[in-house]
Amino acid sequence: MSRSGVDKRFDPTTRPYAADEGGHYGPFGGRYSPEVLMPALEELEACYRSALDDPQFHADLEKVRRTFIGRPTPLYFCENLTRDLGGAKIYLKNEGLAHTGAHKINHCVGQALLAKRMGKRRIIAETGAGQHGVATATVCARFGLECVIYMGAIDMARQRPNVFWMQQLGAEVRPVEFGGKRLKDAVNAALKDWITNVGTTHYLIGSCLGSHPFPEMNRFFQSVVGQEIRSQLDDAEGRLPDYVIACVGGGSNSIGAFDEFLAERSVKLIGVEAGGKGIASGSHASRFAGGRLGVVEGYKSYWLLDQHGQVADTHSISAGLDYAGIGPLHALLHDEKRVEYTSATDEEVLAAFQRLARTEGVFSALESAHAVAHAIRLAPTLPRDKIIVVNLSGRGEKDIFILAKHLADTTFVEFLKDYLSETT
Ligand SMILES: *Cc1c(COP(=O)(O)O)cnc(C)c1O
Repeated sequence: MSRSGVDKRFDPTTRPYAADEGGHYGPFGGRYSPEVLMPALEELEACYRSALDDPQFHADLEKVRRTFIGRPTPLYFCENLTRDLGGAKIYLKNEGLAHTGAHKINHCVGQALLAKRMGKRRIIAETGAGQHGVATATVCARFGLECVIYMGAIDMARQRPNVFWMQQLGAEVRPVEFGGKRLKDAVNAALKDWITNVGTTHYLIGSCLGSHPFPEMNRFFQSVVGQEIRSQLDDAEGRLPDYVIACVGGGSNSIGAFDEFLAERSVKLIGVEAGGKGIASGSHASRFAGGRLGVVEGYKSYWLLDQHGQVADTHSISAGLDYAGIGPLHALLHDEKRVEYTSATDEEVLAAFQRLARTEGVFSALESAHAVAHAIRLAPTLPRDKIIVVNLSGRGEKDIFILAKHLADTTFVEFLKDYLSETT
């Protein structure tokens, strides 16, 4: 029961594996932030808790989900892939059909509503590949908020299309020229901005990570995904899934899909990390294959660190999984063995992308294709009456450049060269 009875499905304090008052998930999580940010984090927490108790907030959120995001997203039975693999039934929860093409919009909308509730009219965020920046710029346009996105200068050069989209949405993209000019430097630049402008500004964090209350809050905003899976699968099959599989970067789409089933011990939950060029190569982003306990970016969790204890360079074919840390609830779910974690290599991911496109007519984001790759490994080992739900966190159109390069489509590369020489 929720304290207000408004959202009967979600009371963060009584969820399985709930954070304690300090935002700790067992030994993980917490609020390791500079002193000057404590009032802002407390204000955000108070605002979020009052919103959970406010029927109007739930009504507003529900309306934006329905009319802007396009919820509920479909739960789709992969008839052809299931037949080909000859084992368990495979369903896709297609978050790729959400507005902007991925699940990120779920927590961006939620935080934009909270920023308005706090009377903060300026939003900042940091982005590596640009996907979080695009989702943030989208909700700022929708809710009339000023938007500044910090991005490493190297990432900006590599992710030109997303920089273009953010600018079209009215955001200011600020290049970060210090350090390695990558994501971790953009995080530092955003934190510095927040410290300076904390009275007017909300720092929109893009996954179930960061200082308390961000992991818990984004869990709430994403939990709609698992709630929809439960009711849609109940309509289709009259029962719970046997497996829910999701890819794990920072951990938000997976927490969203898993949350509803954490208390259902019959449902096996599997998180798939980026195996990159293979765990043995060292070129990957699997925190549960070599990560160590560390306090970085405001929270305690497993981190991939180098020999000097600094955040290590990671590798994945998918930008969204290319991150050295992992949300604190995942660290607990791993240690408690409630969720099983595995990984898929870049090569398996490309094969899974192509197989899903050809058998089902669905382009998977490269991130989500990690989950598809594991389903392809798992389904043939299971009887036909078992049900797997894959959370397809996003659609693949954004990955056209990486795909064309890795699938060695030379005509596409030629096309780009010709196209550019004609237009510049
Ligand atoms: C950003 C992103 C991810 C990784 O983020 P999580 O917080 O782990 O969900 C996964 N899939 C897609 C499509 C993304 O854009």
